[in-house]
Amino acid sequence: MIQYLYIHIPFCARKCIYCDFFSIPYDEGLALGYITTVVQELDLRKEAAGELKTVYIGGGTPTTVPTLSLIRLIKKIKDSFALSPDVEITIEANPGTIDQKKARALSDAGVNRFSVGVQSFNDYELKLLGRIHSFEDVIKTIAAVRYADVGNVSIDLMYGIPGQTMDGWRHNVEMAVELSPEHISAYELTPEKGTPLYEAMSRGELEKPPEEVILEMYYHAIDRFGESGYRHYEISNFGKPGFECRHNLNYWNRGQYIGLGAGAHSFIGDRRMRNTDDVKRYIEIVKTDSLAIDESVEISCEEAIRESILLGLRRTEGLNIRGCREDLGIDLEPAARELIAKRLLESSGGYLRLTREGIVVSNTVITELFQKLTL
Ligand code: SF4
Repeated sequence: MIQYLYIHIPFCARKCIYCDFFSIPYDEGLALGYITTVVQELDLRKEAAGELKTVYIGGGTPTTVPTLSLIRLIKKIKDSFALSPDVEITIEANPGTIDQKKARALSDAGVNRFSVGVQSFNDYELKLLGRIHSFEDVIKTIAAVRYADVGNVSIDLMYGIPGQTMDGWRHNVEMAVELSPEHISAYELTPEKGTPLYEAMSRGELEKPPEEVILEMYYHAIDRFGESGYRHYEISNFGKPGFECRHNLNYWNRGQYIGLGAGAHSFIGDRRMRNTDDVKRYIEIVKTDSLAIDESVEISCEEAIRESILLGLRRTEGLNIRGCREDLGIDLEPAARELIAKRLLESSGGYLRLTREGIVVSNTVITELFQKLTL
């Protein structure tokens, strides 16, 4: 039985210039109908679920949706599923879309983890990224979720922003440390094809900082968050002890999950599925008591092994060598020998993991490892 539930709320106040997630402009009528539909879809998926360990309401920007609709959704989840006594219920909240009242209402409804899309503490960078909020909004949002007695707050930060300097990034890192959230995600800004950022970069209007500066930014985050009591537990994620994101850990452990909502992915049995990302079609189909699945792929044994390695190496703990031998039937050590000699991988305590040098070229390391493995 599946113990992890994801709900996708695709609405955003405005599209950020770098965003290639599935999100659409907020429309109140559509959003209200959408939540009703998710509640219906939840009934269709109930059977596959066991006692839930985590619920993650992500987007998009879930907090663009009216408070009462979100509470209705949370209540429905609580009525429909058994929840583990220490269930982690996360909602993504963007500054500018949540105040003290909303944070308190969501916390009272059962949300016990807020993931706040900060991205930067610098107004110039926020504006360039197309974010709707300012530095002041960030501070107000963190204060609002703290006011709501939420003891588990995560923030997202971005580095490698055009025009960002090493000093600018140091300032963002210091601000994060000072605010002391329980969890920090730090991602490099990636210009995805089709986004306005990508177009502007192709035209030479925007330029990312040089590669060596971006590397320095990443290493600085690892060192500074590390000395401030955060455990670097995944390539881009840092948590105070006991505050690692349990929902995302399930993805990296290749655990199964149910995804509800337009564009949501599910991993059930040996199939990965994706709901349609056409919101109107999603609503029409689910109304007829059917699932709105657009794609359903059976994962072969070979793909399962590849996924396990790819996801497992994202965790700084690494891959359990014996576990891989017994569960997946693969012998990692001979395949990793050359990469270990190049100091891109290391093997200790029964685990194979990326080194500090290997972590920044993880895609290349993983590709090389796959080539050496006989699957
Ligand atoms: S708030 Fe997040 S999901 Fe919405 S447009 Fe910006 S990056 Fe995309």
